[in-house]
Amino acid sequence: MTYDVDAIRADFPILSRQVNGRDLVYLDNGASAQKPQVVIDAVTAGYSQEYANVHRGLHYLSNLATDKYEAVRGKIATFLNAPSEDHIIFNSGTTEGINMVSYAWAAPRMQAGDEIILSIMEHHANIVPWHFLRERLGVKLVWVDVDERGDLDPQRVLDAITSKTKLIAITHTSNVLGTVVDVKAITEGAHAQGVPVLVDGSQAAVHAPVDVSDIGCDFYAITGHKLYGPSGSGAIYVHPDRMDEMQPFLGGGDMIKEVHRDTVTWNSAPMKFEAGTPGIVQQIGLGVALDYLMDLGMENVARHEADLRDYTNSRLSGLNWVTVQGNSDNKAAIFSMTMDGVGHAHDLSTILDKQGIAIRAGHHCAQPLMQHFGVTATARASFGLYNSKAEVDKLIEGLEFCHELFG
Ligand code: PLP
Repeated sequence: MTYDVDAIRADFPILSRQVNGRDLVYLDNGASAQKPQVVIDAVTAGYSQEYANVHRGLHYLSNLATDKYEAVRGKIATFLNAPSEDHIIFNSGTTEGINMVSYAWAAPRMQAGDEIILSIMEHHANIVPWHFLRERLGVKLVWVDVDERGDLDPQRVLDAITSKTKLIAITHTSNVLGTVVDVKAITEGAHAQGVPVLVDGSQAAVHAPVDVSDIGCDFYAITGHKLYGPSGSGAIYVHPDRMDEMQPFLGGGDMIKEVHRDTVTWNSAPMKFEAGTPGIVQQIGLGVALDYLMDLGMENVARHEADLRDYTNSRLSGLNWVTVQGNSDNKAAIFSMTMDGVGHAHDLSTILDKQGIAIRAGHHCAQPLMQHFGVTATARASFGLYNSKAEVDKLIEGLEFCHELFG
């Protein structure tokens, strides 16, 4: 299939707008991606024609909404190559997914002195839920560093395992460096020593095909708004053995079988972990976004983005006043930059914004990584499936303009 980036761009209405009088160049996909018209239409129809609560009514609209909502479970299972849709728990995104694992699976089976291994490049969503256990239970967080290129050697992670290790919680792709981690090697090595593995797939699932059956991990978290779906949508894949070990997380409607004055029984998984009225339309929108991605083919998306990555690398290599944090051979098209003479990354993003170029500046919810590299903030350009080489050129022009401005 030829990957027609112009045709793809036409699917995303926001890409044809202007910002600050210039054509929008949207390079903040790592934070959140734009939505294709099919997703916008599905959300509009979800509210204007098809809305009702799910799992509850016996009327037409409730059945329609339930059917559409539940069909998304299978789409997520297909997208991740999970063995069954029963292994997919819906949620509002990765943050909720990892907090659920911390609360429902980890907390009941951990005690003071137990250890959780994390890489230094985790997003706060895969750090803070484990800090809760450190604070409340006395669990120890064990950090594994990346090397100067931003690579994470799986063996270093496995070498950190001790008899106290209860979990490895690791990102599949860094939201700051773009580094892709060999989570399969980590999972294989960890399982050989009886240690479960949680993978934060928020960034990885966006850029390349993911196969949780092949990885063999215990938990794999994704977030809908980065996958070109609505915010507030998401899911976590849970291996059936871990599912059986999990206690309910939130209590309320839908997650129960029977409630009496003195007793309560639970619904079967995955509903046991989905209390209350969910993000019905958001999740239906995510299903449409996944259909869109699967129609494009994630391997085609990955090829296009690898091309953009290589082109950006070659253009940036000509700017010896720009430092890119993380230059792994196996990285997504994510570039975290600092520039000589520019005191703060925010200045860079403000000036680029005036040219219609949207990037993100800050610590990217990865403060331990910033500390590791000795910076407080970087300016991050993160590419998506609709970005073009012409936009890379505009970014480079924007950086050159900043360089001239700051002398
Ligand atoms: N993990 C990574 C690697 C991320 O990049 C993000 C979002 O930036 C998250 C977790 C949190 O995702 P969400 O805010 O959608 O829950």
